Amino acid sequence: MSTWIEQDSAHCLHPFTNFKSLNAKGSRIITKAEGVYIYDEDGNKILDGMAGLWCVNLGYSSQPLIDAATEQLKQLPYYNLFFQTTHPPAVELSTLLAEITPEGMNHVFFTGSGSECNDTVLRMVRHYWASKGKASKQTVISRHNAYHGSTMAGASLGGMKFMHAQGGLPLPNIVHIDQPYHFGEGQGQDVNEFGLERARQLEAKILELGEDNVAAFIAEPIQGAGGVIIPPDSYWPEIQRICDKYEILLIVDEVICGFGRTGEWFASQAFNIKPDLMCMAKGITSGYLPLGGVMVRDHVAKVLTDADTEFAHGFTYSGHPAACAVAIANIKEMQRLNVVNQVREEIAPYFAQRWGELADHPLVGQARCKGLVGAIELVADKQTNQRFDKDLDVGTRCREHCFNAGVVLRAVGDSMICSPPLIISKDEIDQLVTKAKQALDNTLADVKS
Ligand SMILES: *Cc1c(COP(=O)(O)O)cnc(C)c1O
Repeated sequence: MSTWIEQDSAHCLHPFTNFKSLNAKGSRIITKAEGVYIYDEDGNKILDGMAGLWCVNLGYSSQPLIDAATEQLKQLPYYNLFFQTTHPPAVELSTLLAEITPEGMNHVFFTGSGSECNDTVLRMVRHYWASKGKASKQTVISRHNAYHGSTMAGASLGGMKFMHAQGGLPLPNIVHIDQPYHFGEGQGQDVNEFGLERARQLEAKILELGEDNVAAFIAEPIQGAGGVIIPPDSYWPEIQRICDKYEILLIVDEVICGFGRTGEWFASQAFNIKPDLMCMAKGITSGYLPLGGVMVRDHVAKVLTDADTEFAHGFTYSGHPAACAVAIANIKEMQRLNVVNQVREEIAPYFAQRWGELADHPLVGQARCKGLVGAIELVADKQTNQRFDKDLDVGTRCREHCFNAGVVLRAVGDSMICSPPLIISKDEIDQLVTKAKQALDNTLADVKS
């Protein structure tokens, strides 16, 4: 074992990791990256089908982002937005975000991450209703198997049972309805019927709690960490109708979907959703530096800016100047390269075609995608979509075969998921699919033996 692996086991506690089993295997040491590829310490070149953690949208070699960070660190490496101060990168980024986000969203609250965005929205919606004299509107409705981050509020808003179990979550006044996961929970049912049924659970929950007690509904347009769950077409229009009818704020968590992932700047545009608050992180800087932001629709911002009370919330790194400078460079570079159109018109259709071929593999029950995010479902029986025994851990095995074949895909249970950099070429998509097929073959051989 290399010294790095030994020191890592000895001193570093990794996120979302079973420490014991990691230490038995040892970490993979990633030493450099270029374009859509990462390299490990043995010099293996691996195509990053996950864009890091869904964030490296412009790939690993974007010089304008590197320059923006460097220049800003020289000019003003740190200052904050507290106590009547600000700085040019935060001002310019706020203005730019108001331009590129959906119409009617003109204010942003900066954070350092997606989790902090969700902590922010939880407090902001309650402060909003209290400021409007409706302090009883406290409860936020979310969904089982949602992912909204790992802080106490993020994990509570999220619907991951294994996370709730560690830490006595969710926090009070956060409740969950079922997710629109047709392959997993609606087999045999008409897709759009199923979508409507799941959306109408929101209405039932509002009526059960009483609309005077409900502050907001929160959801990812496409669930990411839950397994790239693309809702039926019927789902979002019905959710929108229900939020409008009961005057429930709609919080859309665009941390993964924002900044081009679905072939629009924001998935809210792709699904025709009208969010009141929108969480952004990850792709906002292509992951080069940590940054998040909550976009706030005008009618909500007005209540907040008219209120006499202070919004007692904020982070040391809210609007960090270097992170803001990188975000500005990232947005400008996306505009210069016309990335969003390129994804929508050229790359996503090609990805859909090639990724879709994986459905022919004997292990695969379904291949689905939207824009540049996709999933395949591994099944024991292709005819019935019967799953493998959980103890076989087929997803994790497939993930390891992927890495060994030279491509990073992630496993969520027995769903393999993919979210490559938006600058991936057709040739690189071919490589991705070839490597994924090889990994599937190896996984099949593995489970047969
Ligand atoms: C990753 C993610 C988060 C959390 O973001 P962090 O920056 O890891 O705190 C929140 N929401 C969604 C949808 C995410 O994918």
